[in-house]
Amino acid sequence: MSLLKSWVDSANSAATPFPLNNLPYGVFSTAKVDGHCGVAIGDMILDVTALEEAGVISIDEIPVFDLPMWNEFMDLGAEVWAEFRTSLQELLGEGAPEELRKTLKAYLVAQADATMHLPFAVSEYTDFYAGKNHAFNVGTMFRGPENALPPNWLHIPIGYNGRASSVVVSGTDVRRPWGQLKAPDAEMPSFAPCKRFDLELEMGAIVGQPSEGPITVGEADQNIFGYVLLNDWSARDIQAWEYQPLGPFQAKATATTISPWIVTAAALEPFRTSTPAREKELLPYLAEPKPGLYDIELEVTLAPEGKAETTITRTNYSQMYYSAAQQLAHHTTSGCAMTVGDLLGSGTISGPTKPERGSLLELSWGGKEPLTLDTGDERSFLADGDTLTLKGAAKGDGYQIGFGDCAGTVLPALDDPYKR
Ligand code: CA
Repeated sequence: MSLLKSWVDSANSAATPFPLNNLPYGVFSTAKVDGHCGVAIGDMILDVTALEEAGVISIDEIPVFDLPMWNEFMDLGAEVWAEFRTSLQELLGEGAPEELRKTLKAYLVAQADATMHLPFAVSEYTDFYAGKNHAFNVGTMFRGPENALPPNWLHIPIGYNGRASSVVVSGTDVRRPWGQLKAPDAEMPSFAPCKRFDLELEMGAIVGQPSEGPITVGEADQNIFGYVLLNDWSARDIQAWEYQPLGPFQAKATATTISPWIVTAAALEPFRTSTPAREKELLPYLAEPKPGLYDIELEVTLAPEGKAETTITRTNYSQMYYSAAQQLAHHTTSGCAMTVGDLLGSGTISGPTKPERGSLLELSWGGKEPLTLDTGDERSFLADGDTLTLKGAAKGDGYQIGFGDCAGTVLPALDDPYKR
C-alpha cells in the first residue's frame, strides 16, 4: 500500500496525518456550523452533515449525520462502513470529475477554523490492564518483583468498569482532583489534593456493533469500528490507598481524554501485527483467528506552563499482550451486552526499556528517579499548568495514518471542594 492521491493538495504528503488512506471521522463546530460530522482530509474537513442536508450524499435515504456523533453511522454495520469509505475515496480521490470537485469544495472547512468535539457518544467505558511491561513495572513497585504479575494476568485480559461520563475530548482542561490519601506510615488517611497526578498512554477501541451474549475474538474484531488515542489520567496516591480489593475507583474517574478523530479499523488494516508469543497457553475462547494488534508508533510530550515540550516516552501499540478483540470477546463471556459507542481502553502501553514507559509512575519509578525535561524542569508526577500531548501514527510507504493530538492541561486543585 502506498499514498493514495487526492485532489485536496494538503492530503498528498508523507507528513500529513490525514491522507486519502486515512479518512478519520470527527465532530466539529466553526463560526458557521455547530456540531457537524466531518471527515479529515489533509488540513481540511469534509462536512458530511451539510452534504447530507443538501442531498449531495445519502445513505439508505435516511438521515445518518443529523446528530453530532457517529453512533448512527456505526449502528448501520460493516457493509455500510465499507461502502461509505469507498465512496469517500472516490469523491476525494484524484480521479473525481472537475464538476464534482467544484461542488465538494464548498463543503470543505479548514481544520484551523474548527473546534473539535467528542466524535461519538460514549455509551460505556471499560479500561483494561493488558500491557505486560506496564503491569510488571507497576506490580514490582506495589508488591515486589516476585509478585509483580498477579497469577491470573497471563490468562485473563484484566479490566475494570470505568465511567463513560469521565471521557472528554482532546483540548479539555483537567482539574487536579482531591481524594482520600494515606501515606504508608501515616496512621490515618487525609482528604487532600492529589500529589501524584499521572498520565497513562493508551489506545481506545470503539465498539461499532452491539452484541448480546458471548462472542468470539473473530466476531469481536468485526465489531470494532475504530480507534482513538486515550489518556487515562490517574491519581496514584488515591489509587494506592483505594485499589484493594476491587480495583481502581476515584483514582481513574477525574477524566479520560481521547483524540478527536476516529481512525477506522479499515484504515489501519495494512498495519496489522500479531500479539507476542504466549507465555501460558490461552484458553481456546481467546484464540485469535488473525493478527490482532496494529503497528502504531506512539509518543507523549510534556510542556510545563509557557515552556517548550519534551518527549517523555516513545513506544508502540504492538507492545500489548492482549488485543482489543480479545478484550472485547472476554468482556462478553459473562453474557455482558455491548453497545454501539462502547469504549475499551487498552491499558497502559509500555515498551521493555525505560524511555518506552507509558506513565510517569514508571518513568520516575514511583518518584524515586525524577525526569529532567529539556527545559531543565524536573518531574516525578504532573505539575499544575503542565500540558500533556499523546501522538500516534501508523507509518506506511510514503504516507501515515495519524490520529491527531490527544492533549490536556492540568489545572490546579480547587481550594476546598467542600467549602460552601
Ligand atoms: Ca489505565
